[in-house]
Amino acid sequence: MKDPNCIFCKIITGKSPAQILYQDDLSTAFWDAHPIAPVHILVVPNDHIDSLNSIQNNHESTLGHLILIAHTLAKQHGIHLSGYRLVINTGPDAGQSVNHLHLHLIGGRRMPFRFE
Ligand code: 5GP
Ligand code: ZN
Repeated sequence: MKDPNCIFCKIITGKSPAQILYQDDLSTAFWDAHPIAPVHILVVPNDHIDSLNSIQNNHESTLGHLILIAHTLAKQHGIHLSGYRLVINTGPDAGQSVNHLHLHLIGGRRMPFRFE
């Protein structure tokens, strides 16, 4: 299912431009338009899912698939040994700004973790 007003649904279907790195039946990966690190890739399910708060039992294999794709992309971009982070922002406090579930694959630099 697609949401016609969703920017990531439009990217998945080729209606909006993006630098797509990978696509298969379940998922699409493309460069983040505003990267916060040398490698900043978004891995998204092809079906529109608003956020982690909307996942159902039948999404289990898709969610696992996103992580496997992220790991493959981390290797392809040479950050699997230097390190990388997978982030799924959910809701306002986490700063989720696009309401189509997406996994950030971020790497290529040191990243602080703790909040002050
Ligand atoms: P969030 O803040 O929801 O976790 O992450 C949304 C991400 O999507 C942001 O990092 C933002 O830069 C990226 N983004 C928003 N709109 C677009 C777009 O049209 N194209 C691409 N490639 N990335 C986008
Ligand atoms: Zn969508």
